[in-house]
Amino acid sequence: MEVAANLAVIQEKIGQACEKSGRKPSEINVIGVTKYATIERTEEAVEAGVKNLGENRNEGFLEKYHHIGDKVTWHFIGTLQSRKVKDIIDKIDMLHALDRSSLAKEINKRASAPVDCFIQVNVSGEASKHGLSIEEVIPFIEEMEKYEKVHVIGLMTMAPHIEDKEEIRRVFRDLAYLRDRIKAKQLHHAPCEFLSMGMSNDYEIAIEEGATHIRIGSQLVGE
Ligand SMILES: *Cc1c(COP(=O)(O)O)cnc(C)c1O
Repeated sequence: MEVAANLAVIQEKIGQACEKSGRKPSEINVIGVTKYATIERTEEAVEAGVKNLGENRNEGFLEKYHHIGDKVTWHFIGTLQSRKVKDIIDKIDMLHALDRSSLAKEINKRASAPVDCFIQVNVSGEASKHGLSIEEVIPFIEEMEKYEKVHVIGLMTMAPHIEDKEEIRRVFRDLAYLRDRIKAKQLHHAPCEFLSMGMSNDYEIAIEEGATHIRIGSQLVGE
């Protein structure tokens, strides 16, 4: 399917999820995840109107960035190795996977301007997943105050790959609740307004639970 047709289906579903939950589609940022897409397919997405692109590896990001440039907003959604921070940090607009102090320290050292970051949270506690546990997040955010280049704009999670929709919903709801608690603190370095959650299989649930950034790969740019 053409990306434009896929995008139309996704926008329709976003509209329905917003209606169900009393939200506005304009609150939802669709990030096209192009990690498995060719340059041509990525360009097709940009032409179809996708304004945000997400990559999870340095090499993939740099290749796409080289071709597409600054006409989209760039999201780095994968685990970032500290030694590779310098290669990409001034090119990306948002980092979705801040998960350790050593990475924050390196960002602080290398970035020329403050970087908008989401803290990755492992809500479900699966051993295979990256991210801080729920309990670790608030102390971690307090620690981030000393890094002036780290600007905590929100929380990010990946739901488990399971069929049980209520279990998935619980993960998103827990993340939204944690975001609310942090936002209420009104921390200058961590406004924590946003929620990056929801992928191809679960973005409608994520929107119903408050997602502001959904990260969609296969349903948008897949075969
Ligand atoms: C690949 C990836 C996505 C997109 O996954 P799909 O299921 O293809 O939509 C979203 N977020 C992260 C962190 C990813 O690595």
